[in-house]
Order: sequence, then structure tokens, then C-alpha cells
Amino acid sequence: MTMTMRAARLHAGPGGQAELRLDNDVPVPVAGPGEVLIKVRACGLNQVDLLTKDGQTPQEVPLPHISGTEVAGDIVALGEGVTDWAEGARVVVDPIIACRQCENCIRGETNMCRNSRVFGVQTEGGYAEYAVAPARQLWAMPAGLDYGAAAAVAVTGPTAWHMLRDRAKVVLGEDVLIIAGGSGIGVLGMQIAKAAGARVIATAGGAEKVRRCLEVGADFAVDHNDPTWPDQVRRFTGGRGVDIVFEHVGQSTWEGSLKALARGGRLVTCGGHSGFMVGFNLWHLFVKEHTLIGSFGGTRRDFLAVMRMAGQGNLRQVVQETLSLADLPRAQELLRQRKVFGKLILDPTLI
Ligand SMILES: [Zn+2]
Repeated sequence: MTMTMRAARLHAGPGGQAELRLDNDVPVPVAGPGEVLIKVRACGLNQVDLLTKDGQTPQEVPLPHISGTEVAGDIVALGEGVTDWAEGARVVVDPIIACRQCENCIRGETNMCRNSRVFGVQTEGGYAEYAVAPARQLWAMPAGLDYGAAAAVAVTGPTAWHMLRDRAKVVLGEDVLIIAGGSGIGVLGMQIAKAAGARVIATAGGAEKVRRCLEVGADFAVDHNDPTWPDQVRRFTGGRGVDIVFEHVGQSTWEGSLKALARGGRLVTCGGHSGFMVGFNLWHLFVKEHTLIGSFGGTRRDFLAVMRMAGQGNLRQVVQETLSLADLPRAQELLRQRKVFGKLILDPTLI
């Protein structure tokens, strides 16, 4: 008899729009060679889940599909050939599944792997009671971290780390502007920039989110609903502008981000969920010697660094709410409407 589980799956809906529905009779996946079966204890919601739902991912995702890239849980079964893990181990999944054989992987740039898949996008993910993951993508959960806290840093942590440390190369004493400091990636970006010795400025939507950014560690925060926010950032830096802008919103914040950037400054971006098409004035780019830097996910090394820092208690995501599978459609709308500070975490064991 096939075991079944509850899972929130994307189905083809009317008019080609995918619909997220709770299914009670999904077969529990089987761990193949080199894989493990995980009982999901926490799965973070991510903007990429919305891209998948909207059909905006570069490769088409076949439906029905289980989203969810940020998973922590317990190993409950081992596939053939898995010898370095045991049932009952508490693990967190590194979601960038790299081949470890291409040139980029050999250089350690596993985020740039030419054959990579993203767990929960090109594989079934963690919006379910159980999920299968390659054993080599696992990391033992640091002692002292709960499942939600580990899942909540598994994607946004390495992504923010890669942007600030590897790509923009933040150094002591710089001014860093974190766009949307209240987002999942923003909360960790503020802490990583601060830990690197930077002064941190954040943007956020509304007075309450501004206040909470200051609580998380920003030295200064501005309300992005006020169109003068780039001027406020410049004033705070004595008219100079910031050394680094940490971008991930795209179209709606792009112009302000460039306005707030100092001469010689770097803008690093890892996303653009408000729109991917942006413009800029070439005159400003060369006269101000601005550098635009792309950044994608994080490397295996970034993932390990984040897990260490989180395990030491020095990197902590804000978890706004822990949800059941039935809550997911509502929760995705909160994410879309930017009504989330930090992270929403699914606990599939909640009924
Ligand atoms: Zn590779």
C-alpha cells in the first residue's frame, strides 16, 4: 500500500493561472539512490514560490508541483548508498543542487553551476509532510537552533552573505543601504552588513516596519512611501550617499537606489520581483563611477558560513508567523502584498 501525505500543491487552474490547493492523498515520495526522505518540520516561504506560481521561472515547472525551498526536518528513511546519515538526524537542506563537476563548481562557485537545480523549484519541495532531498545537500542543524530558525536562514542567509561578502565585498566603516529591510533577505542583510563593521541604513514600507528595522539593528531607516527617501539617505551620510546598495526589489526601487549611491559606489542586486526591466542614466554611471553587480543565491561555502553564524546566535531571522498547510494560500498573498516582516514559516505537522 502506498503511504499518503498532506501537501499544498500547485495545480493548473482556469485561464492558465496556477492554483495552490491542499491535497490529502499525495503519495509519500520514495528516496532514490543517494537521497533521503525528510519529515518536514519547517519550510520557509520565499518570493521564488510566487514566481513558480505565476509561471515566471526561466524553465517551465510541470504541474502538479510542490513548492518550498527552505526546509529543515528529520531524516526518516535513507535511499540506497547513503551511509553518512542516520534516521532521526536533524537536518537543513542547502537548496542549490550543484553538479560539483563543472568548471564553476570546481572553482567553488556552486551557485554558478551550469547544471544546477534548485530544490523546491526544479524538484518537489517542502510544502508537504515529507520531502526527498539529495543526501549531499544536507547539513546537520546547529545545536540550539530550532527547525523554524534554521529553515528561515537557509536561502535568504547565503543569498545575503554572497551579495555583501563575495560580490560587493563590504568592508569596515562603509555605509550600506538595505532596500526593503523588513523582507526576509533584508533582515539578514542588515545583520550581515552590521557584523562586517558597516553602518546600516534600511528602507521599509510604513512607520511600523521602519521602527522594526531599527530594532533589528539598522542605524537609520526611511519610509520608502515618502518619495524623498533617497535625499534622506544622502543627508544621513552627510550628502555623500552610500557605498553599497543592497537591491532585490527591482523596478520600483531602482531609481531611488541609484540616487542614494555615492560616487564610486556599488549596487549589488539578486532579484527584481517588482519588475526586471530597469533603466539608468549612462552619464551618471560613468561620471560617478558606479558599479552594478549581479549576485545569484549563495555558494556551498556561504551556506556553511551562515549556518555557523546562526548556530552561534549571531544571525537570527524574524519569524512573523508559523503556519499550517491550510494557511498557505493566505500566507502567499501576505507575501505578495508585502505584509510580512522577516519570514513566514510553514510547519506541516500543524493541523
Ligand atoms: Zn556544476
